[in-house]
Amino acid sequence: MQNLRDSKTLIGWDKDYLWHPFTQMRDWLAEEPVIIQSGEGVYLIDVEGNRYIDGIASMWTNVHGHNHPDLNAALKTQLDQIAHSTLLGYSNIPAIKLAQKLVEITPKGLNKVFYSDNGSTAVEVALKMAFQYWQHKGEPQRKLFIHFDSAYHGDTVGAMSVGGIKSFHNTYNSLLFECIRVSAPKTCRSAVVGKDSDMKMKTRWLNAVEQAISEHTGEIVGIILEPLIQGAGGMLMSPKGFLKELAELAKNQNILLIVDEVMTGLGRTGKMWACEHEDVTPDLLCTAKGLAAGYLPLAATLTTDEIYNAFLGEYNEQKTFFHGHTFTGNPLACAVALENISIFERENLLHQLQTTIAHFKKRLQEFYTLPHVGDVRVCGMAAGIELMKNPDTNVSYSFEEKTGIRVCKYALSQGAILRPLVNTIVLMPPLQISISELDSLLDITFRSIETVTKNRAS
Ligand SMILES: *Cc1c(COP(=O)(O)O)cnc(C)c1O
Repeated sequence: MQNLRDSKTLIGWDKDYLWHPFTQMRDWLAEEPVIIQSGEGVYLIDVEGNRYIDGIASMWTNVHGHNHPDLNAALKTQLDQIAHSTLLGYSNIPAIKLAQKLVEITPKGLNKVFYSDNGSTAVEVALKMAFQYWQHKGEPQRKLFIHFDSAYHGDTVGAMSVGGIKSFHNTYNSLLFECIRVSAPKTCRSAVVGKDSDMKMKTRWLNAVEQAISEHTGEIVGIILEPLIQGAGGMLMSPKGFLKELAELAKNQNILLIVDEVMTGLGRTGKMWACEHEDVTPDLLCTAKGLAAGYLPLAATLTTDEIYNAFLGEYNEQKTFFHGHTFTGNPLACAVALENISIFERENLLHQLQTTIAHFKKRLQEFYTLPHVGDVRVCGMAAGIELMKNPDTNVSYSFEEKTGIRVCKYALSQGAILRPLVNTIVLMPPLQISISELDSLLDITFRSIETVTKNRAS
């Protein structure tokens, strides 16, 4: 255990030397940061010995809990062999085995695996592959990607170009390549969204996509989306059947479908891949976050024989995919990913998970009794609770009120680690959370929203 004097030193050094992601550092400097020292199942433990439920699975990555004996063992076994060797010109055992396994467990037709290190790079790889594919097919005029409003595909320049979150991306607009952004109407209060409005919304979206395609005949590379849930955009759920119909539309119009499963993959939605809910095989599938169970950075872009084969040719034809990251196919990360998938299979986790999901959904409905909860959106083990100043008149809290941030701060004092998306409280615990741990997380979240939003009526 770290003693308190050490923790003071660490806090000082954090403030002196660290620049945190997505963080206004002036606000950070004014606060006492929580410094995590260890993890145990769904709990995170800080340097002062405080325990917190990890309500966001350490930024949506953790699957089976922290410090898992089997994952630790897999990592240690691989470490005694080798930590890293390159896939550029050579191969390694865990990278080969994981590629075989990923092809086995992803939708039929995805037969090739290209590794990288994170979600953004998995998306960059997909975009470049799709773009180059059309060049090899003799259609170099195809240069445009279709993407959605509120989409999030990562923070590198290519991934930002297909992103649709103004506050993240607007600063860099002049750096980004041209795309076609399809605007979708925001989801309204789900309590009043019946099948009818769901259908209407789906039709509107599909029509918008169809129109974009017809306005740019022969110029579209493909369409990229987050299947079922737009995560960072605010945990927005897409209408039932949308993915399926979009996939059919893409197929009929001869454009590529790129599915970004970085957040939804590895069981988050209740199936291994969100695509499975609507029986869709995309042309390209991106996975990262949970791939190595939240242990190590690892990503993969999977694709079809059709795309892979288009890159085959004589060496001097220059059809090679000139892309690769130094730590591509890292053996440690691949070994943990293999064990991650192996635990899913051994414990029949996706089956077990249905009970947890049913409980999660049922208990989330209780949040509607809180006067400032405007919407509760849930899919599998991912939920967003949207706070509003006045849900009846659809009035949001202003950015400056920091309501989401204040709720998460209160939750921290009650023993849960959360992180909001503006005024939407995200709940995304490790999949292996027990029912009683889940109840604690929900109780803390409920109390925190109730306390923070009380006496702040519109
Ligand atoms: C997090 C996320 C990314 C980016 O992943 P990084 O590992 O942070 O680069 C891309 N797409 C989706 C859907 C994500 O949720």
